[in-house]
Amino acid sequence: MPRSVDAEVVVIGGGPAGMAAALSAWEWGARRVFLLERNPHLGGILNQCIHPGFGLRLFGEELTGPEYAERYIEALEKTRVEVLTDTTVLEVGGDRHVVAVNREGVWIFRARTVVFAVGCRERTRGMIRLPGTRPAGIFTAGCAQYLVNIEGYLPGKRAVILGSGDIGLIMARRLTLEGVRVEAVVEILPTLSGLLRNYVQCLLDFRIPLLLSHTVLEVLGKERVEGVVVGRVDEKGNPVGEKRLLPCDTLLLSVGLVPESELLKKSQIPLCPSSGGPFVDEDFACDVPGFFACGNVVGVFDLVDYVTESALRIGRRIGENEGHTPPRFILSPREGVATLFPQRIRRGKDGFLYVRPKEGLRKARLSLIHNGKEFHSLTFPLCRPGEMVRLDLAQVSWPEEEGEVQVVLRGEKHVDLL
Ligand SMILES: Cc1cc2nc3c(=O)[nH]c(=O)nc-3n(C[C@H](O)[C@H](O)[C@H](O)COP(=O)(O)OP(=O)(O)OC[C@H]3O[C@@H](n4cnc5c(N)ncnc54)[C@H](O)[C@@H]3O)c2cc1C
Repeated sequence: MPRSVDAEVVVIGGGPAGMAAALSAWEWGARRVFLLERNPHLGGILNQCIHPGFGLRLFGEELTGPEYAERYIEALEKTRVEVLTDTTVLEVGGDRHVVAVNREGVWIFRARTVVFAVGCRERTRGMIRLPGTRPAGIFTAGCAQYLVNIEGYLPGKRAVILGSGDIGLIMARRLTLEGVRVEAVVEILPTLSGLLRNYVQCLLDFRIPLLLSHTVLEVLGKERVEGVVVGRVDEKGNPVGEKRLLPCDTLLLSVGLVPESELLKKSQIPLCPSSGGPFVDEDFACDVPGFFACGNVVGVFDLVDYVTESALRIGRRIGENEGHTPPRFILSPREGVATLFPQRIRRGKDGFLYVRPKEGLRKARLSLIHNGKEFHSLTFPLCRPGEMVRLDLAQVSWPEEEGEVQVVLRGEKHVDLL
Protein backbone atom coordinates (compact mmCIF):
# COMPACT_ATOMS: atom_id res chain seq x y z
CA MET A 1 0.00 0.00 0.00
CA PRO A 2 1.41 3.43 -0.85
CA ARG A 3 1.88 5.81 2.08
CA SER A 4 -0.48 8.73 1.86
CA VAL A 5 0.76 12.06 3.28
CA ASP A 6 -0.96 15.43 3.54
CA ALA A 7 1.47 18.26 2.85
CA GLU A 8 1.25 22.01 2.73
CA VAL A 9 4.17 22.32 0.31
CA VAL A 10 6.02 19.66 -1.69
CA VAL A 11 9.23 20.80 -3.39
CA ILE A 12 10.58 18.44 -6.05
CA GLY A 13 14.36 18.61 -6.50
CA GLY A 14 16.97 19.39 -3.84
CA GLY A 15 19.38 21.56 -5.85
CA PRO A 16 19.93 25.24 -5.02
CA ALA A 17 16.47 26.18 -6.34
CA GLY A 18 14.59 23.52 -4.37
CA MET A 19 16.51 24.20 -1.16
CA ALA A 20 15.85 27.95 -1.36
CA ALA A 21 12.15 27.40 -2.18
CA ALA A 22 11.67 24.99 0.75
CA LEU A 23 13.54 27.32 3.08
CA SER A 24 11.54 30.38 2.06
CA ALA A 25 8.23 28.51 2.35
CA TRP A 26 9.21 27.55 5.89
CA GLU A 27 10.38 31.06 6.76
CA TRP A 28 7.08 32.51 5.53
CA GLY A 29 5.10 30.24 7.84
CA ALA A 30 4.33 27.10 5.82
CA ARG A 31 4.44 23.86 7.82
CA ARG A 32 4.52 20.25 6.62
CA VAL A 33 7.00 21.23 3.94
CA PHE A 34 8.61 18.26 2.13
CA LEU A 35 11.75 18.44 -0.02
CA LEU A 36 12.13 15.40 -2.30
CA GLU A 37 15.49 14.65 -3.95
CA ARG A 38 16.30 11.60 -6.06
CA ASN A 39 20.04 11.64 -5.29
CA PRO A 40 21.52 10.57 -1.93
CA HIS A 41 22.57 14.18 -1.13
CA LEU A 42 21.09 17.65 -1.44
CA GLY A 43 22.91 20.18 -3.64
CA GLY A 44 21.98 19.19 -7.19
CA ILE A 45 24.49 20.00 -9.91
CA LEU A 46 26.54 22.08 -7.43
CA ASN A 47 27.99 18.91 -5.92
CA GLN A 48 30.06 18.24 -9.04
CA CYS A 49 31.09 21.89 -9.55
CA ILE A 50 34.21 21.94 -7.39
CA HIS A 51 35.57 25.09 -9.05
CA PRO A 52 35.13 28.51 -7.40
CA GLY A 53 32.80 31.17 -8.83
CA PHE A 54 29.56 30.64 -6.94
CA GLY A 55 27.90 33.11 -4.61
CA LEU A 56 29.71 36.31 -5.61
CA ARG A 57 26.46 38.26 -5.86
CA LEU A 58 24.61 36.80 -2.88
CA PHE A 59 27.45 36.38 -0.41
CA GLY A 60 30.18 38.62 -1.90
CA GLU A 61 32.49 35.60 -1.71
CA GLU A 62 33.80 33.14 -4.28
CA LEU A 63 32.57 29.76 -3.11
CA THR A 64 32.85 26.35 -4.73
CA GLY A 65 29.60 24.60 -5.67
CA PRO A 66 29.61 22.27 -2.63
CA GLU A 67 30.40 25.23 -0.29
CA TYR A 68 27.49 27.18 -1.73
CA ALA A 69 25.15 24.19 -1.33
CA GLU A 70 26.34 23.67 2.24
CA ARG A 71 25.08 27.14 3.26
CA TYR A 72 21.53 26.12 2.36
CA ILE A 73 21.84 22.58 3.71
CA GLU A 74 22.87 24.07 7.07
CA ALA A 75 20.00 26.57 6.98
CA LEU A 76 17.53 23.76 6.23
CA GLU A 77 18.84 21.75 9.16
CA LYS A 78 17.67 24.55 11.45
CA THR A 79 14.08 24.13 10.22
CA ARG A 80 11.66 21.25 10.34
CA VAL A 81 11.44 20.95 6.56
CA GLU A 82 11.23 17.19 5.95
CA VAL A 83 13.99 16.21 3.54
CA LEU A 84 13.62 12.87 1.76
CA THR A 85 16.71 11.98 -0.30
CA ASP A 86 16.98 8.91 -2.56
CA THR A 87 13.38 9.71 -3.40
CA THR A 88 12.32 10.04 -7.02
CA VAL A 89 9.11 11.74 -8.08
CA LEU A 90 7.41 9.77 -10.83
CA GLU A 91 4.24 11.74 -11.40
CA VAL A 92 2.46 14.92 -10.42
CA GLY A 93 -1.29 15.16 -10.97
CA GLY A 94 -3.20 18.30 -11.86
CA ASP A 95 -4.96 17.90 -8.46
CA ARG A 96 -1.49 18.29 -6.87
CA HIS A 97 -0.94 14.71 -5.82
CA VAL A 98 2.72 13.78 -6.04
CA VAL A 99 3.76 10.14 -6.51
CA ALA A 100 7.28 9.37 -5.31
CA VAL A 101 9.27 6.21 -4.73
CA ASN A 102 12.15 5.33 -2.41
CA ARG A 103 13.45 2.30 -0.51
CA GLU A 104 10.47 2.40 1.81
CA GLY A 105 8.07 2.08 -1.12
CA VAL A 106 5.62 4.36 -2.89
CA TRP A 107 4.48 7.67 -1.38
CA ILE A 108 1.52 9.77 -2.40
CA PHE A 109 1.67 13.35 -1.17
CA ARG A 110 -1.53 15.37 -1.31
CA ALA A 111 -0.17 18.89 -1.46
CA ARG A 112 -1.69 22.36 -1.33
CA THR A 113 1.30 23.70 -3.24
CA VAL A 114 3.77 21.91 -5.50
CA VAL A 115 7.10 23.47 -6.47
CA PHE A 116 9.04 22.07 -9.43
CA ALA A 117 12.80 22.57 -8.94
CA VAL A 118 14.08 19.70 -11.07
CA GLY A 119 16.78 21.60 -13.00
CA CYS A 120 17.76 21.05 -16.62
CA ARG A 121 19.47 18.46 -18.77
CA GLU A 122 22.25 18.64 -21.35
CA ARG A 123 21.64 18.45 -25.07
CA THR A 124 23.09 15.25 -26.46
CA ARG A 125 24.75 14.04 -29.63
CA GLY A 126 21.39 12.87 -31.01
CA MET A 127 19.85 16.30 -30.49
CA ILE A 128 22.52 18.02 -32.62
CA ARG A 129 22.77 15.25 -35.26
CA LEU A 130 26.53 14.92 -35.03
CA PRO A 131 27.82 13.30 -38.25
CA GLY A 132 30.31 10.42 -38.39
CA THR A 133 30.81 7.09 -36.67
CA ARG A 134 29.55 6.22 -33.18
CA PRO A 135 32.61 5.16 -31.23
CA ALA A 136 33.14 5.31 -27.45
CA GLY A 137 34.64 8.55 -26.14
CA ILE A 138 31.81 11.04 -26.73
CA PHE A 139 30.47 12.56 -23.51
CA THR A 140 28.36 15.52 -22.56
CA ALA A 141 30.53 18.00 -20.64
CA GLY A 142 28.44 17.66 -17.46
CA CYS A 143 28.73 13.87 -17.60
CA ALA A 144 32.52 14.17 -17.97
CA GLN A 145 32.51 16.59 -15.02
CA TYR A 146 30.65 14.04 -12.92
CA LEU A 147 33.12 11.29 -13.91
CA VAL A 148 36.18 13.42 -13.08
CA ASN A 149 34.98 15.25 -9.96
CA ILE A 150 32.75 12.67 -8.29
CA GLU A 151 33.84 9.25 -9.58
CA GLY A 152 37.54 10.04 -10.08
CA TYR A 153 37.78 8.81 -13.70
CA LEU A 154 39.37 10.64 -16.64
CA PRO A 155 37.33 10.35 -19.84
CA GLY A 156 40.46 10.22 -22.06
CA LYS A 157 43.90 11.69 -22.78
CA ARG A 158 43.36 14.08 -25.66
CA ALA A 159 40.10 16.00 -25.99
CA VAL A 160 38.20 18.34 -28.24
CA ILE A 161 35.25 20.27 -26.82
CA LEU A 162 32.31 21.15 -29.03
CA GLY A 163 30.42 24.21 -27.81
CA SER A 164 31.64 27.17 -25.77
CA GLY A 165 28.95 27.02 -23.08
CA ASP A 166 30.12 27.44 -19.49
CA ILE A 167 30.30 23.74 -18.72
CA GLY A 168 32.56 23.18 -21.75
CA LEU A 169 34.85 26.06 -20.78
CA ILE A 170 35.08 24.86 -17.20
CA MET A 171 35.81 21.31 -18.32
CA ALA A 172 38.54 22.52 -20.70
CA ARG A 173 40.37 23.91 -17.66
CA ARG A 174 39.55 20.95 -15.42
CA LEU A 175 40.82 18.38 -17.93
CA THR A 176 43.99 20.41 -18.55
CA LEU A 177 44.68 20.51 -14.81
CA GLU A 178 44.27 16.72 -14.73
CA GLY A 179 46.86 16.25 -17.52
CA VAL A 180 44.52 15.84 -20.50
CA ARG A 181 45.60 17.67 -23.65
CA VAL A 182 42.70 19.86 -24.80
CA GLU A 183 43.18 20.51 -28.52
CA ALA A 184 40.50 23.17 -28.94
CA VAL A 185 37.06 24.42 -28.03
CA VAL A 186 35.00 24.54 -31.23
CA GLU A 187 32.01 26.91 -31.40
CA ILE A 188 29.56 27.03 -34.32
CA LEU A 189 28.48 30.62 -33.52
CA PRO A 190 30.63 33.67 -34.24
CA THR A 191 30.57 34.51 -30.50
CA LEU A 192 31.23 32.79 -27.21
CA SER A 193 28.20 31.04 -25.65
CA GLY A 194 29.39 31.13 -22.03
CA LEU A 195 30.39 33.84 -19.59
CA LEU A 196 33.34 36.04 -20.55
CA ARG A 197 35.00 35.40 -17.18
CA ASN A 198 35.04 31.66 -17.95
CA TYR A 199 36.66 32.33 -21.34
CA VAL A 200 39.46 34.30 -19.67
CA GLN A 201 39.97 32.00 -16.67
CA CYS A 202 39.50 28.67 -18.43
CA LEU A 203 40.80 29.12 -22.00
CA LEU A 204 43.04 32.22 -22.21
CA ASP A 205 44.90 31.44 -18.99
CA PHE A 206 45.63 27.90 -20.25
CA ARG A 207 46.27 28.84 -23.91
CA ILE A 208 43.48 26.59 -25.17
CA PRO A 209 42.41 27.68 -28.67
CA LEU A 210 38.82 28.78 -29.25
CA LEU A 211 37.67 28.22 -32.85
CA LEU A 212 34.65 30.48 -33.45
CA SER A 213 32.37 29.90 -36.48
CA HIS A 214 33.65 26.32 -36.59
CA THR A 215 32.02 22.98 -35.96
CA VAL A 216 32.74 19.27 -35.91
CA LEU A 217 31.98 18.02 -39.43
CA GLU A 218 32.81 14.38 -38.79
CA VAL A 219 33.68 12.05 -35.93
CA LEU A 220 36.32 9.45 -36.82
CA GLY A 221 37.07 6.10 -35.17
CA LYS A 222 35.49 2.67 -34.91
CA GLU A 223 35.76 1.38 -31.35
CA ARG A 224 37.04 4.63 -29.82
CA VAL A 225 37.16 8.24 -31.09
CA GLU A 226 40.38 8.73 -33.10
CA GLY A 227 39.83 12.30 -34.20
CA VAL A 228 37.35 14.87 -35.40
CA VAL A 229 37.24 16.84 -38.62
CA VAL A 230 36.51 20.50 -37.93
CA GLY A 231 35.79 23.27 -40.38
CA ARG A 232 34.61 26.84 -40.71
CA VAL A 233 30.87 27.44 -41.14
CA ASP A 234 28.75 30.35 -42.34
CA GLU A 235 25.94 32.05 -40.36
CA LYS A 236 23.55 29.19 -41.21
CA GLY A 237 26.03 26.55 -40.03
CA ASN A 238 26.96 25.37 -43.55
CA PRO A 239 30.62 24.39 -44.09
CA VAL A 240 32.74 26.94 -45.95
CA GLY A 241 36.48 26.82 -46.58
CA GLU A 242 39.05 24.25 -45.57
CA LYS A 243 38.63 21.40 -43.08
CA ARG A 244 41.22 20.00 -40.74
CA LEU A 245 41.69 16.93 -38.61
CA LEU A 246 42.12 17.26 -34.86
CA PRO A 247 43.42 13.96 -33.46
CA CYS A 248 41.77 13.10 -30.10
CA ASP A 249 40.30 10.18 -28.18
CA THR A 250 37.55 12.19 -26.48
CA LEU A 251 34.89 14.60 -27.65
CA LEU A 252 32.96 16.59 -25.05
CA LEU A 253 29.66 18.21 -25.99
CA SER A 254 28.72 21.50 -24.39
CA VAL A 255 25.92 22.36 -26.76
CA GLY A 256 23.22 23.70 -24.52
CA LEU A 257 20.91 22.88 -21.65
CA VAL A 258 17.16 22.34 -21.75
CA PRO A 259 14.72 22.56 -18.84
CA GLU A 260 13.74 19.17 -17.44
CA SER A 261 10.06 19.56 -18.28
CA GLU A 262 8.77 15.96 -18.40
CA LEU A 263 6.99 16.05 -15.03
CA LEU A 264 5.42 19.40 -15.90
CA LYS A 265 4.09 18.05 -19.17
CA LYS A 266 2.42 15.17 -17.36
CA SER A 267 0.66 17.60 -15.03
CA GLN A 268 -0.38 19.71 -18.02
CA ILE A 269 1.35 22.88 -16.90
CA PRO A 270 1.57 25.23 -19.93
CA LEU A 271 5.13 25.50 -21.27
CA CYS A 272 6.81 28.44 -22.98
CA PRO A 273 8.12 27.53 -26.46
CA SER A 274 11.17 29.80 -26.28
CA SER A 275 12.48 28.85 -22.80
CA GLY A 276 11.27 25.23 -22.78
CA GLY A 277 10.15 25.68 -19.16
CA PRO A 278 6.76 26.66 -17.74
CA PHE A 279 5.28 30.14 -18.05
CA VAL A 280 5.76 31.84 -14.68
CA ASP A 281 4.99 35.19 -13.07
CA GLU A 282 7.39 37.31 -11.05
CA ASP A 283 6.89 35.08 -7.99
CA PHE A 284 7.50 32.00 -10.14
CA ALA A 285 3.89 30.82 -9.95
CA CYS A 286 2.87 28.74 -12.98
CA ASP A 287 -0.30 29.32 -14.97
CA VAL A 288 -2.12 26.56 -13.04
CA PRO A 289 -3.09 27.53 -9.45
CA GLY A 290 -1.08 25.80 -6.70
CA PHE A 291 1.99 25.14 -8.89
CA PHE A 292 5.32 26.98 -8.83
CA ALA A 293 8.62 26.37 -10.63
CA CYS A 294 12.09 27.78 -9.97
CA GLY A 295 15.69 27.48 -11.06
CA ASN A 296 16.84 25.93 -14.30
CA VAL A 297 13.56 24.14 -14.97
CA VAL A 298 12.08 27.60 -15.70
CA GLY A 299 14.88 28.54 -18.10
CA VAL A 300 18.61 28.22 -17.95
CA PHE A 301 20.06 30.88 -15.62
CA ASP A 302 23.71 32.00 -15.92
CA LEU A 303 24.44 32.16 -12.21
CA VAL A 304 23.36 30.11 -9.25
CA ASP A 305 22.85 33.36 -7.30
CA TYR A 306 19.95 34.19 -9.64
CA VAL A 307 18.55 30.68 -9.24
CA THR A 308 18.45 31.20 -5.48
CA GLU A 309 17.08 34.73 -5.83
CA SER A 310 14.19 33.45 -7.95
CA ALA A 311 13.38 30.54 -5.65
CA LEU A 312 13.37 32.69 -2.50
CA ARG A 313 10.38 34.62 -3.87
CA ILE A 314 8.13 31.60 -3.73
CA GLY A 315 7.78 31.38 0.06
CA ARG A 316 6.42 34.91 0.40
CA ARG A 317 3.76 34.26 -2.21
CA ILE A 318 2.70 31.03 -0.47
CA GLY A 319 2.75 32.78 2.91
CA GLU A 320 0.63 35.70 1.73
CA ASN A 321 -1.95 33.19 0.50
CA GLU A 322 -3.63 35.72 -1.71
CA GLY A 323 -4.97 33.24 -4.26
CA HIS A 324 -4.37 32.99 -7.96
CA THR A 325 -5.31 36.16 -9.81
CA PRO A 326 -4.89 36.47 -13.58
CA PRO A 327 -1.75 38.29 -14.72
CA ARG A 328 -1.99 41.98 -15.65
CA PHE A 329 0.67 41.77 -18.34
CA ILE A 330 1.91 39.04 -20.69
CA LEU A 331 5.52 39.57 -21.77
CA SER A 332 6.50 38.37 -25.26
CA PRO A 333 10.04 38.11 -26.63
CA ARG A 334 10.44 40.15 -29.82
CA GLU A 335 13.32 41.60 -31.84
CA GLY A 336 16.72 40.69 -30.42
CA VAL A 337 15.36 38.54 -27.55
CA ALA A 338 15.98 34.76 -27.54
CA THR A 339 14.01 34.09 -24.40
CA LEU A 340 12.82 35.76 -21.20
CA PHE A 341 11.24 34.96 -17.87
CA PRO A 342 8.97 35.65 -16.06
CA GLN A 343 6.52 35.90 -18.93
CA ARG A 344 3.62 36.98 -16.68
CA ILE A 345 3.40 40.04 -14.44
CA ARG A 346 0.81 40.12 -11.66
CA ARG A 347 1.89 42.97 -9.42
CA GLY A 348 5.10 44.14 -11.07
CA LYS A 349 6.25 45.86 -7.86
CA ASP A 350 9.40 43.83 -7.29
CA GLY A 351 11.36 40.89 -8.66
CA PHE A 352 13.48 40.70 -11.78
CA LEU A 353 13.04 40.14 -15.49
CA TYR A 354 15.76 37.94 -17.03
CA VAL A 355 16.33 38.38 -20.76
CA ARG A 356 18.63 36.27 -22.96
CA PRO A 357 19.91 38.29 -25.98
CA LYS A 358 19.69 36.63 -29.39
CA GLU A 359 23.01 38.12 -30.55
CA GLY A 360 25.86 40.35 -29.44
CA LEU A 361 24.96 44.06 -29.42
CA ARG A 362 26.84 47.26 -28.65
CA LYS A 363 25.03 50.37 -27.29
CA ALA A 364 22.13 48.09 -26.46
CA ARG A 365 18.68 49.22 -25.36
CA LEU A 366 16.11 46.94 -23.76
CA SER A 367 12.60 48.30 -24.29
CA LEU A 368 9.25 47.36 -22.79
CA ILE A 369 6.54 48.29 -25.28
CA HIS A 370 2.77 48.43 -24.71
CA ASN A 371 0.28 49.42 -27.40
CA GLY A 372 3.18 50.47 -29.62
CA LYS A 373 4.70 52.82 -26.96
CA GLU A 374 7.92 52.27 -25.06
CA PHE A 375 7.13 52.76 -21.35
CA HIS A 376 10.42 51.57 -19.86
CA SER A 377 13.97 51.11 -21.13
CA LEU A 378 17.40 50.12 -19.94
CA THR A 379 20.59 50.94 -21.84
CA PHE A 380 23.98 49.31 -21.52
CA PRO A 381 27.25 49.36 -23.53
CA LEU A 382 27.30 45.69 -24.53
CA CYS A 383 25.25 42.52 -24.37
CA ARG A 384 25.99 38.95 -25.47
CA PRO A 385 23.93 35.74 -25.71
CA GLY A 386 26.14 34.18 -23.02
CA GLU A 387 24.99 36.67 -20.35
CA MET A 388 21.43 37.46 -19.40
CA VAL A 389 20.23 41.02 -19.02
CA ARG A 390 18.54 41.46 -15.62
CA LEU A 391 15.95 44.18 -15.17
CA ASP A 392 14.79 45.23 -11.71
CA LEU A 393 10.97 45.27 -11.90
CA ALA A 394 10.77 47.72 -8.99
CA GLN A 395 12.11 50.40 -11.38
CA VAL A 396 9.27 49.90 -13.89
CA SER A 397 6.14 52.10 -13.95
CA TRP A 398 3.58 49.81 -15.56
CA PRO A 399 0.85 51.25 -17.82
CA GLU A 400 -2.71 51.59 -16.46
CA GLU A 401 -4.15 49.39 -19.14
CA GLU A 402 -3.42 45.66 -18.90
CA GLY A 403 -2.34 43.54 -21.88
CA GLU A 404 0.62 42.35 -23.92
CA VAL A 405 4.06 43.85 -23.39
CA GLN A 406 6.63 43.34 -26.12
CA VAL A 407 10.24 43.06 -25.01
CA VAL A 408 12.76 44.25 -27.58
CA LEU A 409 16.58 44.46 -27.57
CA ARG A 410 18.17 46.76 -30.14
CA GLY A 411 21.69 47.99 -30.75
CA GLU A 412 24.63 47.82 -33.09
CA LYS A 413 25.50 44.27 -34.09
CA HIS A 414 28.65 43.13 -32.32
CA VAL A 415 30.45 39.81 -32.82
CA ASP A 416 33.81 40.37 -31.11
CA LEU A 417 34.46 38.56 -27.88
CA LEU A 418 35.51 41.51 -25.74
C1 LIG B 1 29.18 22.48 -15.14
C2 LIG B 1 28.45 23.61 -14.51
C3 LIG B 1 29.19 24.67 -14.07
C4 LIG B 1 28.55 25.75 -13.46
N1 LIG B 1 29.32 26.79 -13.01
C5 LIG B 1 28.71 27.82 -12.37
C6 LIG B 1 29.49 28.89 -11.79
O1 LIG B 1 30.72 28.92 -11.89
N2 LIG B 1 28.85 29.87 -11.12
C7 LIG B 1 27.49 29.85 -11.00
O2 LIG B 1 26.95 30.77 -10.36
N3 LIG B 1 26.72 28.88 -11.54
C8 LIG B 1 27.29 27.85 -12.21
N4 LIG B 1 26.54 26.83 -12.74
C9 LIG B 1 25.10 26.91 -12.68
C10 LIG B 1 24.46 26.35 -11.42
O3 LIG B 1 25.12 25.20 -11.00
C11 LIG B 1 23.01 26.06 -11.76
O4 LIG B 1 22.46 27.29 -12.16
C12 LIG B 1 22.21 25.53 -10.56
O5 LIG B 1 22.80 24.37 -10.05
C13 LIG B 1 20.76 25.22 -11.00
O6 LIG B 1 20.02 24.88 -9.86
P1 LIG B 1 18.67 24.03 -9.90
O7 LIG B 1 18.31 23.78 -8.49
O8 LIG B 1 17.69 24.68 -10.77
O9 LIG B 1 19.04 22.67 -10.63
P2 LIG B 1 19.98 21.45 -10.19
O10 LIG B 1 21.18 21.90 -9.46
O11 LIG B 1 20.18 20.65 -11.43
O12 LIG B 1 19.05 20.64 -9.18
C14 LIG B 1 17.92 19.90 -9.59
C15 LIG B 1 17.71 18.75 -8.63
O13 LIG B 1 16.47 18.11 -8.91
C16 LIG B 1 16.63 16.72 -8.72
N5 LIG B 1 15.57 16.02 -9.47
C17 LIG B 1 15.33 16.08 -10.81
N6 LIG B 1 14.27 15.31 -11.13
C18 LIG B 1 13.81 14.77 -9.97
C19 LIG B 1 12.74 13.89 -9.65
N7 LIG B 1 11.91 13.41 -10.60
N8 LIG B 1 12.56 13.52 -8.36
C20 LIG B 1 13.39 14.01 -7.39
N9 LIG B 1 14.42 14.84 -7.64
C21 LIG B 1 14.63 15.22 -8.91
C22 LIG B 1 18.04 16.45 -9.29
O14 LIG B 1 18.57 15.24 -8.82
C23 LIG B 1 18.79 17.68 -8.78
O15 LIG B 1 19.37 17.45 -7.51
C24 LIG B 1 27.15 25.74 -13.34
C25 LIG B 1 26.41 24.66 -13.81
C26 LIG B 1 27.04 23.60 -14.39
C27 LIG B 1 26.22 22.43 -14.90
